[in-house]
Amino acid sequence: MEKVSEILSELKAQNRSVLTEFESKELLAEIGLPVPKQILVGEKDGEEAILHACQTIGYPVVLKLIAEDVVHKSDVGAVKLNIQGEDAAKKAISELFAIECTGEKKVSVQEMADEPITEIIIGTLQDPQFGPTIMFGIGGILVEVMKDVSFRIAPITDFDSEEMVHEIKGFTLLDGFRGKPKADLEAIKRALILIADLAYEHQEIAEMDLNPVFVYKSGIKVVDARIILKK
Ligand code: ADP
Ligand code: MG
Repeated sequence: MEKVSEILSELKAQNRSVLTEFESKELLAEIGLPVPKQILVGEKDGEEAILHACQTIGYPVVLKLIAEDVVHKSDVGAVKLNIQGEDAAKKAISELFAIECTGEKKVSVQEMADEPITEIIIGTLQDPQFGPTIMFGIGGILVEVMKDVSFRIAPITDFDSEEMVHEIKGFTLLDGFRGKPKADLEAIKRALILIADLAYEHQEIAEMDLNPVFVYKSGIKVVDARIILKK
């Protein structure tokens, strides 16, 4: 976690508390979580540089606008999925830069992750009483509407992670629902333990929101993340 400490103290030195999606996923990759390949390009580097990054990642790609005040990216059209080639990329780039926001605009060029079995959410927060706490749920309406989530105080054991995964009602979706393959529960449990450790060992982290994490028959991929530090 030495690299993580470095990243966090650098942010602190810059007096920054909200990590961009790009930075959040770089940090999560440091602790061993799989994230889609990503390259960050600034608006001033120009369209050519972004197209070059698309080539490097390899089509199909995802383009996202990364800017300080764009938080819920899809709400403002800042996520362009499944871009198949240069023409589509050019169109997406001009649409992204037309989005109104303050501060420097950057584009994250990402690998388009394969369709998952299902999306999950992993989060952490600092409970005033219990300290770093980890949350797990199935992505989408199950979390947002049904509040179908499990919580534990960090750090967690292997047994805790096993319970967290099994105790949500949506567990069926991970267990071979409607002929789909079973999700890689071991990969999910490993991610929960790693995230809980991160939250415990770096209590300057106020909250983390990995939303969504794509789940596969083999492995997982964190496709969106947001990390916020204490002020
Ligand atoms: P938001 O800020 O709106 O939450 P996300 O980065 O989560 O934006 O993107 C919105 C949705 O697009 C995700 O929920 C996911 O379904 C899909 N998505 C995002 N990034 C990727 C990617 N790299 N590969 C495939 N799908 C993606
Ligand atoms: Mg998201």
